[in-house]
Amino acid sequence: MDADYEAVIGLEVHCQLQTESKLFSGARAAFGAPPNTLIDPTVLGLPGALPVVNARAVELAVRAALAFGGQVQERSLFERKHYFYPDLPKGYQISQYERPYCLGGAVTIDLPEGGTRDIGLVRIHLEEDAGKLMHDERGPWSRVDLNRAGVPLIEIVSQPDLRSPAEAYAYLWELRRVLRWVGVSDCEMQEGSLRCDANVSVRRRGEQRLGTRVEIKNLNSLRHVEAAIAYEIARQSALCRAGRAHEIERCTVLWDPDAKVTRPMRGKEDAADYRYFPDPDLPPLRLSAERIAAIRAAMPDLPRQRERWLCERYGIEPAAARELTQERAVADFVEDLIRRGAPPRLAANWTREEALRRVAETGKPIAEALPPALLAAVIALVESGQVARVVAKAELDALLTSGEPPAQYFASRGMIQVQDSAQLAAWVAQAIAAEPKAAAELRAGNDKAIGRLVGVTMKLSGGKAQPQAVQAEIRRQLGL
Ligand code: ADP
Ligand code: MG
Repeated sequence: MDADYEAVIGLEVHCQLQTESKLFSGARAAFGAPPNTLIDPTVLGLPGALPVVNARAVELAVRAALAFGGQVQERSLFERKHYFYPDLPKGYQISQYERPYCLGGAVTIDLPEGGTRDIGLVRIHLEEDAGKLMHDERGPWSRVDLNRAGVPLIEIVSQPDLRSPAEAYAYLWELRRVLRWVGVSDCEMQEGSLRCDANVSVRRRGEQRLGTRVEIKNLNSLRHVEAAIAYEIARQSALCRAGRAHEIERCTVLWDPDAKVTRPMRGKEDAADYRYFPDPDLPPLRLSAERIAAIRAAMPDLPRQRERWLCERYGIEPAAARELTQERAVADFVEDLIRRGAPPRLAANWTREEALRRVAETGKPIAEALPPALLAAVIALVESGQVARVVAKAELDALLTSGEPPAQYFASRGMIQVQDSAQLAAWVAQAIAAEPKAAAELRAGNDKAIGRLVGVTMKLSGGKAQPQAVQAEIRRQLGL
């Protein structure tokens, strides 16, 4: 962005709630089932079918609201939003409009330049998803899959508080971290369980009024969101600089990820076009203070609190703490290792280097990919100097498949390091005798020369000497 203009961005995020069934009926909600198998009369909008709100969906929606500090409304309304499209059998979508179930709240983001900022939320509302059209390349027809129709969503609407593509990225990253952490949604953008529309405008710096915004749709990865917003900012600010700001029209555009441009889709419809009105089939959604309190009481801590806890309580590096709190199971895993006696920084390192790699490779939950009891035992052996770190790392997979207890595994393979100081002294003496030049250099103050002596000693020991002990013994024998 240049010195004269600034970007203003507000995001609307649709997030699929992790429920067994749909928002207004018992039809199953799942990803990847054969088309049109997850349907029932309510989903199809057949005459006489009546919607009944899914209590679990409401509970998850309230969890999301509480996680962001929003004000949960004791009374909210379901309204019909009308439009005609083949993926919408009823001819309207049940949503919330005038009275959403949550107002306000904020998402605390990490700023690219360091520090944090609260991005305000306008509202969160509940709504049902529509079906999906599949355009068939073999002919001039499309097919419709209604599996997704009626699936529960929340829409999280931010204030226009974001100022750059990187901030928009950070906002979505944090939103996803929190929603996954509290078990509201899996937020898989590729599967459509997190979808984002970006509203972008530019204005002269110092200007208070908002400029005309363009809404970008079809953003199905965090990188696409970032790229599309950057493109749109560049396009709009170029028009402004050329004195053609009036050419920026309020409209909806689609992001084309291959051509890396936005393309006009339609003019923006007004709320009036949707003919919203309260759904006569559904009573107002009432959330008693007791019910909200019960949901609050069942909430876990939040990732940002846990991140701070890992840093302050255990001295784990901020970058590591951030990585380890992307998933609650991972953060719990680290704390499990610490409870089993692993020094916190080692617990963090081994989790990042070994456990997370295995999760990425196998797709298994972390505690299955690498059982914490086993890893804690390995860390203890390394920490006490009995097993070399490199050996432990190299053997970890074989150790896992062997099913043997770690101490027995390493002992039976001759991988326990020798602690016997007389034996160590003999190997070191032999190494110094074999490498007089390196010994002389080290004595003369060239610290790097110690590597050669350590290497020879390790070889003499068959890998069983402990490198730190070897270094100390070399210096002792050379009188350093
Ligand atoms: P709509 O009902 O058309 O979706 P809303 O008023 O609900 O409009 O706003 C939708 C989103 O657009 C919000 O996230 C809001 O912050 C954002 N927004 C509104 N005006 C602007 C603007 N001028 N520039 C950028 N974002 C904006
Ligand atoms: Mg909108």
